[in-house]
Amino acid sequence: MEAPAIFTEADFYQQNFNPQAYLEEYYSMSDGKEWANVFLRQNLRSLHKMFSLDELRGGTLIDVGCGPTIYQLLSACERFQEIIALDYTDQNRQELEKWLRNEEGAFDWVPVVKYVCELEGDREKWAEKQEKVRKKVKQVLKCDVTKANPTGPVSLPPADCIVSTLCLEGACKDLPTFCSALRNIRTLVKPGGHLVMVTVLGDTFYAFNKQVFSSLCLQKHEVEAAVEGAGFEVKLSEAQPYTESTECMDCQGVLALVARRRPSDTA
Ligand code: SAH
Repeated sequence: MEAPAIFTEADFYQQNFNPQAYLEEYYSMSDGKEWANVFLRQNLRSLHKMFSLDELRGGTLIDVGCGPTIYQLLSACERFQEIIALDYTDQNRQELEKWLRNEEGAFDWVPVVKYVCELEGDREKWAEKQEKVRKKVKQVLKCDVTKANPTGPVSLPPADCIVSTLCLEGACKDLPTFCSALRNIRTLVKPGGHLVMVTVLGDTFYAFNKQVFSSLCLQKHEVEAAVEGAGFEVKLSEAQPYTESTECMDCQGVLALVARRRPSDTA
């Protein structure tokens, strides 16, 4: 498999992204999906580590490009009182809401929730954690990271922290667009607040359900420079290399990054 000839942007997601197939491929933790399981567990460990940092706590957290997933909120929900989830694609927001309302046919996150509870020291707390996520997510709204006001026409009060996992590299066709998306989402967080990111490195595509999506091929130093250039100070940046190959993406590593919006950046 290879990258699509034309970069797949937001409207392609709206037309073609199947949330159930995506969840099944990458988040089911089932046997026979060893690569996806390694990838997921690594990202859960990174999120656990980042959301254990002392300064990562506060009132509100905004999840940018949440997709249909909640794994990125499992450690975060222990540190923030309220969560707002944002994504461009209608069917992804609906799939997330289905799980939040505990409706029939919602995705089964229990194996993932148990894994995170185990990282936190008590695997038996999984039901409590699910409830916590369901209670804390107050809104699920449309956003477009390529817009100066990503949630326009709605304006949200700036949050204490934003988290974004595997979104910007899918949403941004080139490095200038990636840099400008970071400047756009910076307005969602208070000066002095934090950005937590999980980003795939060296990747040009990902695939599931016979559908291929583009990924902006990024190097660690490019992500760091883009984050700094958008008004943040990088506090932690750790790349995990991937040497095993898989049919479903050509990623070379994953970057876990924490940055702080410069307190003086109040524009
Ligand atoms: N955060 C999830 C989903 C990643 S998939 C995870 O970690 O698995 C990429 C997501 O980016 C999709 O849900 C897609 O709808 C969203 N997306 C694509 N272009 C976007 C844009 N311009 N603005 C906001 N979200 C976008």
